[in-house]
Amino acid sequence: LVVLENVNKHFGDLHVLRDIDLSVQPGEVVVVIGPSGSGKSTLCRTINRLETIDGGTISIDGQLLPKEGRGLARLRSDVGMVFQSFNLFAHKTVLQNVTLGPMKVLKKSKADAEQRGMELLTRVRIADQAGKYPAQLSGGQQQRVAIARALAMNPKVIMFDEPTSALDPEMVQEVLDVMTDLAKEGMTMVVVTHEMGFARRAANRVVFMADGQIVEESSPDEFFTNPRSERARDFLSKIL
Ligand code: ATP
Ligand code: MG
Repeated sequence: LVVLENVNKHFGDLHVLRDIDLSVQPGEVVVVIGPSGSGKSTLCRTINRLETIDGGTISIDGQLLPKEGRGLARLRSDVGMVFQSFNLFAHKTVLQNVTLGPMKVLKKSKADAEQRGMELLTRVRIADQAGKYPAQLSGGQQQRVAIARALAMNPKVIMFDEPTSALDPEMVQEVLDVMTDLAKEGMTMVVVTHEMGFARRAANRVVFMADGQIVEESSPDEFFTNPRSERARDFLSKIL
């Protein structure tokens, strides 16, 4: 569904992504882990062209990601994004946050967008907050709204970049629970996270990155019990 071939990216002299080959199958949950600065966020951002790449190709559902133009807008709506910092529209209500994209980009009617929006808010267990503004919600609630907003665009895949890192500990689980439900329902997901419990439970595959490269790719069981590379062993010894 998502295929990266030989993707390279520099920021000036810094070679942030080196020869990345990665493919994500429909319904697959791929967890990306690795030390700070290894290029995980950059990888997520290149997949919907929030960042350009210098070399290689990215395709979504068989279509090469174009550099710009209308095709890009359409393919971008196939890739949902959930960030560490929620990025909700502060001056819009929870429901408006979820209906805006479908109305503007998918040209849905207000009534349709609202009906679907309420279904999604119910799915992330926050329908009772639909009329509130983001600042009136807890971090965990805001992140669940961000997930509903991503789902509202009917994406083929959702990228999560450290979705729980900005949350107070007591709110992490409610967000992971929603993500686990999505995974069970067959959503295709790429998740950058330090939540190793989630990785063990929900991932089909773990991708370990260091210095802009994919160093290791394996099943969660294999990765956590028997990491093959020195880098991965070292990383795991620091966080587990
Ligand atoms: P973290 O775990 O801290 O989130 P990460 O694995 O997500 O790290 P990236 O954010 O992808 O790492 O950054 C990879 C490298 O690229 C880092 O060295 C970072 O400083 C650098 N970098 C990221 N964005 C930019 C940018 N816009 N301009 C220049 N350098 C950047
Ligand atoms: Mg990051």
